[in-house]
Amino acid sequence: MSLPKGTYSAAITRFAPSPTGLLHLGHAVAAVAAHNLASQTGGEFLLRIDDIDAGRCRPQFEAAIYEDLTWLGFDWPEPVRRQSDCLAEYEAALQRLRALGVIYPCFCTRKEILAEAARAQGAPHGADGPLYPGTCRALVPDEIRARMQTGAIAALRLDSAKACGLGDMPLIFEEHGEGPEGEQGEILARPALLGDIVVARSGTAGVAGYSYHLAVVVDDAAQKISWVTRGRDLFFATHVQRLLQALLDLPVPQYLHHALAVDEAGKRLAKRHDALSLRDFRERGVSVAEVLAMVRAVLR
Ligand code: GLU
Repeated sequence: MSLPKGTYSAAITRFAPSPTGLLHLGHAVAAVAAHNLASQTGGEFLLRIDDIDAGRCRPQFEAAIYEDLTWLGFDWPEPVRRQSDCLAEYEAALQRLRALGVIYPCFCTRKEILAEAARAQGAPHGADGPLYPGTCRALVPDEIRARMQTGAIAALRLDSAKACGLGDMPLIFEEHGEGPEGEQGEILARPALLGDIVVARSGTAGVAGYSYHLAVVVDDAAQKISWVTRGRDLFFATHVQRLLQALLDLPVPQYLHHALAVDEAGKRLAKRHDALSLRDFRERGVSVAEVLAMVRAVLR
């Protein structure tokens, strides 16, 4: 994959795997895409450990990330940013969103959300299934207090419509790769595509975790990432991440969503399936050159 025509200043890119399993070919594709762009522009390739989801991350998978990337020939500046070290930054971002009045607590279970979506004829669907139907958007403070007192953990959701009403709409991002439907160039951000996303979880004892969307926009700004390269499966996330950037007053990187590695059936490789891991390749004697040839075939 080479850059579209044009002159580019030095790109700061990142590869940001989550240590929830072993890296597979799809990760090698993402790492190479980020690395190529940095080296083609005389920029810098950064590694980040996206371990915000503490319950699913394991130290042995983080160790395997360093090992597999080294095997493939990558290096990166130290120290590596790890999301679990940056919770105070996510908290500050959450406070800012709260101060803007665009956060509300939601007590719905996943089952309730699915049932409500099924009940409401023509309930809106997003890229990942039914959108949150907004059940808790209108809870009054007394109700919220009563629910919290039961020890419930609330999902703190972004009121997307209200948030869009605050900023300088329309919001635009620049796509240099391609979205799943061939989207390219200047893209109008449509945060409503994802509905009221969860930005954090909170109980009476305080915040119990921050979401991927919140962490990633804070991280990209903190690391001065000028180009976000990642798989096409995350294209729609950009719509809401663009809104978070506007609300938090963060710089907006360029975006390059690249093709995904797929299995023989054309399905995206994922850690939860038994996708071939880079470690498997290595142990079976597949060479680095052969892995990189597979990566190039995906990025072509
Ligand atoms: N950590 C995310 C993942 O492993 C990628 C984050 C991003 O590129 O925005 O899928």
